[in-house]
Amino acid sequence: MTKHTITRQTSTILGDGYGCSCGTRLVHRMAAELHAAEQQLCSACLGTVEEEVAPGVARECSACAGTGRRREQLIWQLAHAEAEQVITMALVRGVVADFDGPFHLSEVADTVRDGLGLPGGRLPVGPRVRDLLLELQANGEIAMLSAPDELLDATANVVLYRDPQWQRTGTLGL
Ligand SMILES: [Zn+2]
Ligand SMILES: [Zn+2]
Repeated sequence: MTKHTITRQTSTILGDGYGCSCGTRLVHRMAAELHAAEQQLCSACLGTVEEEVAPGVARECSACAGTGRRREQLIWQLAHAEAEQVITMALVRGVVADFDGPFHLSEVADTVRDGLGLPGGRLPVGPRVRDLLLELQANGEIAMLSAPDELLDATANVVLYRDPQWQRTGTLGL
C-alpha cells in the first residue's frame, strides 16, 4: 500500500500548493482535500494530525480528534451535529442560572454531560457548550472574567482560553 503524506509546498512557481509522497501534485487546497479524502485521510489536517490555530502555532486536529483519519473525521462530524441537537440553548441557560458566582466552562460542560447521562468522549460537549456560552456572552447575559491563558500571535491578537470563566451579569452586583 502506498503511503500518502501530503505536505504544503510554499513559494512554488504556481504559488502555494501541496504535494503528496505518492507523487501527486496538488495545485490548491481543494485538490489536496479531495486527495486526502480519497486516501481515507482527514480533509481538515490532510492526515498531518495537526491544525494551525495561528501562524506557526499548531495543535491536535479537532476535526479528526488528532487521528488524521477520514473515518474518525466523519464520526466526529456526526457527533458534532448530534451535540448541536441535544445540547440546546435552553439547557445551557438553565445550568448557568444555578450558578450564583463565577463558573468555568468545564463546570457547565460537566453538569450538562451528567444531566444528559452522556459518557465522556461520546459527544463534543465542551466545544458545543463553549459556543452557547459565547452566544450568552454576546447577548450580555454573562460576562467573561478570564484572562487569556496564552498569547498565540501578538500581531494578530490571537489568544487562547483553555477553561474560561464567566459570571451571570445579573449577579455581578453592578
Ligand atoms: Zn497521494
Ligand atoms: Zn484531522
